[in-house]
Amino acid sequence: SSFSGLGLNPLITSHLSSKMGIQKPTSIQRAALPVTVSTSPDVIARDIFIQSQTGSGKTLSFLLPIVQDLLPLSSLSYIDRSIGTLAIIIAPTRELAKQISDVLESLLQLRLRAIDESADNVNTSRLTRWLVSGLLIGGGTRTHEKARLRKGLPILVATPGRLLDHLQNTSTFNVSKCRWLILDEADRLMELGFEETIAGILKCLDGHRKLALQAVKEGIGREVGGWDWERRRRTI
Ligand code: AMP
Repeated sequence: SSFSGLGLNPLITSHLSSKMGIQKPTSIQRAALPVTVSTSPDVIARDIFIQSQTGSGKTLSFLLPIVQDLLPLSSLSYIDRSIGTLAIIIAPTRELAKQISDVLESLLQLRLRAIDESADNVNTSRLTRWLVSGLLIGGGTRTHEKARLRKGLPILVATPGRLLDHLQNTSTFNVSKCRWLILDEADRLMELGFEETIAGILKCLDGHRKLALQAVKEGIGREVGGWDWERRRRTI
């Protein structure tokens, strides 16, 4: 089977196959993508819980729906950098955050293809400028990160401590339109003692966040950050 039929934009599937060497979905992608791609964060009533081992292709199961969701928005004329951050991916370690960010960056190379292939240069040039990602992890300089946040980073990959730090201390960090929140390896986030930090992050996003997606390696994840997971979740 192929990626077509899972609801992905052909621009994305052709980018996956020609630029990333990814032709066929893994089993978690076949299970997760029809749900995550077809359900807009605007209407979803439940959070989604993806349970799958490392190496199974979990990362693309949550990155693809985000990129697909934000792609059409980026060509709307009223979108500009001041819209702030629309998707946040939280990872337990700097290394994992960097890995996710690398996959996201190769996925976002499709901006360039969009320019080549589209006749509408006005919209696509806006898309290139706009659909950018950023990494917020301890160890980088706060000043540099603040400057990037001021300019606007639609998609963020972050470790919990540094993310909460910016949510509380960077006044230009705008999350009022944030649509996606991903907790990758949520089980490890808990093991590493990030429960309170995650609770703090959820509080800052409260009323804004539309869809949370919790990815875990094994077992059933515990309730994270005091959020009523049982009531909302849909397990894949
Ligand atoms: P993950 O489980 O998300 O860490 O992915 C593990 C590795 O599998 C990464 O190197 C991905 O680039 C790769 N990968 C993810 N999805 C696919 C796929 N559908 N076909 C081939 N490789 C994939």
